[in-house]
Amino acid sequence: MSNVINVSDIFGKNVFNDAAMRERLPKSVYRKLKETIEKGVELDPSIADVVAHAMKDWAIERGATHYSHWFQPLTGVTAEKHDAFISAPDSNGHAIMEFSGRELIKGEPDASSFPSGGLRSTFEARGYTTWDCTSPAFLREDTLGVTLYIPTAFCSYRGEALDKKTPLLRSMQAINEQALRILRLFGNTTAKRVIPYVGPEQEYFLIDKQNYLKRKDLIYTGRTLFGAMPPKGQEKDDHYFGSIRPRIGAFMKDINEELWRLGVSAKTQHNEAAPAQHELAPIYSQVNVAVDHNQMTMETMKRIAGNHGLACLLHEKPFAGITGSGKHNNWSLSGDDGINMMNPGETPHENVQFLLVLACIMKAVDVHADLLRESTAVPGNDHRLGAAEAPPAIISIFLGEQLEDVIEQLCSTGEAASSKQGGILKTGVATLPDFAKDATDRNRTSPFAFTGNKFEFRMVGASDSVSSPNVVLNTIVAEAFKEAADELEKAPDFDSAVHDLIKRLMIDHKRIIFSGNGYSEEWVEEAERRGLPNLKAGIDSVEALRTEKAVRLFESFGVYTRTELESRAEIEYDSYAKTINIEAKTMIDIAGKQIIPAVVNYLTKIAKSLNSVREACPEADVSAQRELILEVSGLLSEMKTALTRLQEEAQAASVIESNKERAYAYLEKVTKAMQALRTPADKLEMLVDRELWPLPSYGDMVFEV
Ligand code: ADP
Ligand code: MG
Repeated sequence: MSNVINVSDIFGKNVFNDAAMRERLPKSVYRKLKETIEKGVELDPSIADVVAHAMKDWAIERGATHYSHWFQPLTGVTAEKHDAFISAPDSNGHAIMEFSGRELIKGEPDASSFPSGGLRSTFEARGYTTWDCTSPAFLREDTLGVTLYIPTAFCSYRGEALDKKTPLLRSMQAINEQALRILRLFGNTTAKRVIPYVGPEQEYFLIDKQNYLKRKDLIYTGRTLFGAMPPKGQEKDDHYFGSIRPRIGAFMKDINEELWRLGVSAKTQHNEAAPAQHELAPIYSQVNVAVDHNQMTMETMKRIAGNHGLACLLHEKPFAGITGSGKHNNWSLSGDDGINMMNPGETPHENVQFLLVLACIMKAVDVHADLLRESTAVPGNDHRLGAAEAPPAIISIFLGEQLEDVIEQLCSTGEAASSKQGGILKTGVATLPDFAKDATDRNRTSPFAFTGNKFEFRMVGASDSVSSPNVVLNTIVAEAFKEAADELEKAPDFDSAVHDLIKRLMIDHKRIIFSGNGYSEEWVEEAERRGLPNLKAGIDSVEALRTEKAVRLFESFGVYTRTELESRAEIEYDSYAKTINIEAKTMIDIAGKQIIPAVVNYLTKIAKSLNSVREACPEADVSAQRELILEVSGLLSEMKTALTRLQEEAQAASVIESNKERAYAYLEKVTKAMQALRTPADKLEMLVDRELWPLPSYGDMVFEV
């Protein structure tokens, strides 16, 4: 077969990984760098020149001409600025290829053009990118040629975080320190570090590029702002795990190969619930690497889709009425000795360390549900959360039968004496093997579900970075661990103290456990009775960043300062307002320049036909044409009125000074006006001659790939 590839030959080929470092660095330098990467000790700047030199030679041998510090500002996308390795020619006019330790460690992009939420005035333009040596440098091959990408963190002149990576690295330090205290309490003396691991499952849509290019809404906003449902949706459940069509298969093959070369262990691929929707999941990795890899995955998906005449849509809700896309954030904590703190073992009721970890997570999620919700608040997610397809906007934990039973025993009698087992799966077919079932079924409606040896946080939007959710998870659990360790380290009798603490935490935070149908109306009411927050719109959760509770949490672990939290809140409001403003302007553009003219043409066409039929045959029945004219012109005038209204609302909202008030004006006024314009337009799509309709239909887009 011609297209056979050997995965182990290509895996990590474009990464300056451990093997490359070991081969190219002097032993002492290699050892020092590994100390930083593996043990988290501070980077010794004196080795930078040697590392830079080796990295440059490695990259140039592979055809690289440029390098770029690669960072994750608060724009939602990554940023890069390329510099050639070339420096001033020597006296013979020969080009010299240079890359110094200073250039590796520190970059100086002009920070004033990135969102800072008021952290800087524009005259304070300095910002620095700093090499994150714990996430490996890699090469990217594209139309620009080959470029060396160096993952970096991005801070202001005063050291305030302007990006998504700095707080993530800070939160990893926090959880490491506190989790080690828990391990030590249980007698673990071997682990030197505890690391959060994440496996993000990425959902996406693929549609034909030609259709994409005909839709200004997809181009400008990533989602369709108009569009009637096709006759067939996903009601037959025939797409999920369906066989993969050849064109999509070719895309998947290419994306896998490209990701493998970049050291991303793309593992699982399948069709998702909606037509044209798919999923890719990598094998989990250390959280900062997982965040970088997920960004690389999203960017690579878009690029490779283009090579196949496809467009990759990562928006949370590209099509109204069709299931949207999320990103399941699978999260766990493991020591560097390989022991997963989330592993309950066969008999969780006897695993006291696990029960303490679990009790701490229950507390963390209960106390800081608002922050978890906030960490998933991108505008696109508003169309998903709570829309009977994705988790509701209410945070709760699903643990499953086995653990819930253990908790019940602990809370009621104070002792847990047994763990329910899964039993044997019997299919009733003699030739099929019987096997031991998991102790617990799954619950797809839960936003935060225990899945055997990890928690799966399912609220994250498909287009969003997984950084913020993990900053919150790491920090809130660090706080719960710290409070537990503070208490237990002082206790005269550890065994009874830990037992009492687990019981107390479980009783206090049991309200966060829910195993029923998260999509149901009853749950909304029940959650309200339990006092759990239900922050429906993303911007409803932004104030969570400014509560004293949040400031204390993040400041005490050095993850965010009060000022950094303030700035993030302002950016969230501003970015919501900007997103809706672009959507509103795009609708105005499409309605005014494409849909209304098409409807007018259609009306003229029917009117002409009516007249000519009448001329040819005065006694013919033209009531159908007449009714059509009435119906279409009625909807047209409704559209015209709604268009004017939307223009006024968008204009009024855009001039509001305060970020928060402006965001709410867009949420409460502008999105309503947008819906009022969409409704008649979608009805018209079902009436107007297909040949005249200016936009590819939902059916064209999701079924004709
Ligand atoms: P599930 O069937 O529970 O969704 P999968 O095996 O399909 O689990 O894995 C989903 C994602 O979770 C993958 O990215 C996988 O690598 C990741 N994952 C598995 N185990 C862990 C773990 N201990 N910590 C973090 N992520 C994990
Ligand atoms: Mg999963």
